[in-house]
Amino acid sequence: MDGSGAALVRRTLPVVEPKAGEVLVEVAGCGLCHTDLSFLYQGVRTRQAPPLVLGHEISGVVTAIGAGVDAALFNTPVVIPAVLPCGECDLCRAGRRSICRSQVMPGNDRHGGFASHVVLPARYFCPVPAEVLRTHELWELSVVADAVSTPFTAIKRSGLATGELAVCIGVGGIGVYGVQVAAAAGARVIALDISDTKLEQASTAGAHTTLNLKGLDIKDVRKQVRGLAEKLGAGPHCWKIFEMSGTKAGQETAYALLGFGATLAVVGFTMDKVEICLSNLMAYDAVAQGNWGADPLDYPDLLQWIGAGRLTVRPYVERHALSEINQVFDDAHHGRLLKRAVMV
Ligand SMILES: [Zn+2]
Ligand SMILES: [Zn+2]
Repeated sequence: MDGSGAALVRRTLPVVEPKAGEVLVEVAGCGLCHTDLSFLYQGVRTRQAPPLVLGHEISGVVTAIGAGVDAALFNTPVVIPAVLPCGECDLCRAGRRSICRSQVMPGNDRHGGFASHVVLPARYFCPVPAEVLRTHELWELSVVADAVSTPFTAIKRSGLATGELAVCIGVGGIGVYGVQVAAAAGARVIALDISDTKLEQASTAGAHTTLNLKGLDIKDVRKQVRGLAEKLGAGPHCWKIFEMSGTKAGQETAYALLGFGATLAVVGFTMDKVEICLSNLMAYDAVAQGNWGADPLDYPDLLQWIGAGRLTVRPYVERHALSEINQVFDDAHHGRLLKRAVMV
């Protein structure tokens, strides 16, 4: 990305030797995220000024290690968390790793994964267990870095428990994993979207019921979701609502669904602003939360869920050659992709 908003260009960059604590990774796959689109199309600034290689959803094999890195990482298949904390600061020590102010986000703080190789700090890399590679190829697991782990952390933080109602709004690239994680956590899951195809996919992923929001006004939506919740045997209170569309309409819907004791988790990202009555949080004794990426310490659990067959990424990713990246960005920008695009 050169910062002008123009298409991505292919460049040959010098090979960088990993410094102390860093490793060189041969990229197996790098997923395309909404955040990449906002960098390219919506003028959201990357923390390192362009020209910059985007891409923060990376899996690959470690091919060189810098000083002080555990030698066991050499030649190991890894998933690279989208947010790499320093591990030393006050926030990290307080367990708030995902907001570490010295964090490194590939494709934002420095060159990312839409490349043949990437050099990054290795401290929180997550080695991929052998049993996961029996059902998945390494490139597919790139989406664990963000698309799967971000809703995983949101759901974990919301305290979603067996039998509770999870309302998943926007069940595309990220939302479909949110649905899977919520269902695997034992919740009753309602998927909301404006695309029948995405809703069908959400059903396959474990949603117990779905609702197409197209043409419905907010009152209809509230009424219908209440009816569906009742049918699923969930009460009208303490819903866990996950906004994963990253759209203004999705956020408005999510907020309008707040009721007594509800939790609203903002997982999707948009620059658009919404007008809300913030006092509803107080009136409903409700909670609104957000999470910047995921806690790297959640990744081993997540990979274990995949290894044990509780979660799968394979049906929801599609492989593209890195040379097609501009077409894939354009398709993603115009909502033409059903599955998460992984550049290989
Ligand atoms: Zn992302
Ligand atoms: Zn830190």
